[in-house]
Amino acid sequence: MNIILLGPPGAGKGTQAQRLVDKHGMRQLSTGDMLRAAVKAQTPVGLEAKAVMDRGELVSDEIVSALIGDELDAMGDQVGAIFDGYPRTAAQAASLDDILAARGRTLDRVIELEVDEDALVERITGRFTCANCGKGYHETFDPPKVAGTCDKCGGHEFKRRPDDNEETVRTRMAEYRAKTAPILPLYDARGIVSRIDGMADMDHVAAAIESALAG
Ligand code: ADP
Ligand code: ADP
Ligand code: ZN
Repeated sequence: MNIILLGPPGAGKGTQAQRLVDKHGMRQLSTGDMLRAAVKAQTPVGLEAKAVMDRGELVSDEIVSALIGDELDAMGDQVGAIFDGYPRTAAQAASLDDILAARGRTLDRVIELEVDEDALVERITGRFTCANCGKGYHETFDPPKVAGTCDKCGGHEFKRRPDDNEETVRTRMAEYRAKTAPILPLYDARGIVSRIDGMADMDHVAAAIESALAG
């Protein structure tokens, strides 16, 4: 099974992708995570992407599609892919069709997380992750069970993204509205979109995704 999680920044894509990975052994392909790794490693891609990401704008279609192709090649044929934060433009959607076809994969479902934009700034500005294992948290909505200790690995160090500030979030939302939301009609025409209330609590969202994938 190959699926896309679609929604604006803070919609819950990463949170739900982690759950699908834990439950079904699928693989999360997050272009945001790949780009942040490239920035950290100071690769040519990272050096080019950093300023664009800090502004909240979109990195070039060629760069992200190449990252996705490489990542798919590095994983087993039998492992299902969860595309998280990709595709984000019509050109990337077209590339994904080619990338999947070339590898004998099909796109089974697109999950759109519908959220209230006003809630997103609070979600994003309260977001942090474990510096050791990457597990995601939220100050108010999903804090570690024991303050200062990661539930998953017991780590004590946490980090925040430099682009998770209110000003950049506004740009990222505008990019989503202008460039990403318009790709939905393409998938609607194929009858593969499931719309899910992303404002519900995380367990409810997860359950709704499970039934969309089962149905
Ligand atoms: P979020 O899930 O909060 O929207 P991501 O981690 O997916 O954030 O992306 C962070 C940044 O990385 C984006 O603002 C953009 O600059 C860049 N980026 C990630 N994925 C893509 C993509 N598919 N196309 C272009 N830029 C991307
Ligand atoms: P995305 O990957 O779409 O940018 P995340 O999964 O990182 O979004 O979620 C953004 C923040 O909101 C995180 O801190 C996460 O813990 C929190 N969050 C995710 N889903 C929900 C939800 N259904 N209700 C409340 N907070 C949520
Ligand atoms: Zn951890």
